[in-house]
Amino acid sequence: DEIHIYRFMEDCINELRLEYSKQNIIINYNNNINFNTKVIMDSQKIKRVIFNIVQNAIKFMNKDEKVLMIELREEEKINIRIKDNGIGIEKEQLSLIFDKFYRVDEARNTKAGGTGLGLAIAKQIVEAHKGEIWAESVLEEGTSICFTLSKVVNEGESHE
Ligand code: ATP
Ligand code: MG
Repeated sequence: DEIHIYRFMEDCINELRLEYSKQNIIINYNNNINFNTKVIMDSQKIKRVIFNIVQNAIKFMNKDEKVLMIELREEEKINIRIKDNGIGIEKEQLSLIFDKFYRVDEARNTKAGGTGLGLAIAKQIVEAHKGEIWAESVLEEGTSICFTLSKVVNEGESHE
């Protein structure tokens, strides 16, 4: 479906804040999205992508400063970045975390829980939308998971 991304994200952010307010987690949000910008997507699935990434960000975040940042940039594509201030991921592992069942340092991770599927599912959904997904990280400083979505190109804007 063609979805207004501005409105979609507002709804997502509200839902996330509601869900995580009990844990005193602060979710910062900023964007430069035009009200009219549309994206062709399955909103339920993209919501799943965002929630899977946020779930990780919260699992691995700095427990003394429970803040995460969600950023949307409208350029040629829509760029979505979910950034935490957590333990980080080593360079060598950055591409592996999107593999099925892959978990950095099993031992450290058993406490955190999970099966290693969240990011594999996210990647599969983003790629089905012809987008890209990747991770950027600095150990002990934090991680950003980023993905892109294509905009609907509006040729006949003038008739509106
Ligand atoms: P599941 O999502 O199935 O509950 P999971 O969270 O372990 O399990 P993924 O979401 O696929 O699995 O993440 C894979 C691994 O990548 C995690 O186990 C963790 O080691 C690492 N990882 C993912 N996100 C972060 C993050 N924000 N900070 C640090 N490590 C991360
Ligand atoms: Mg996960």
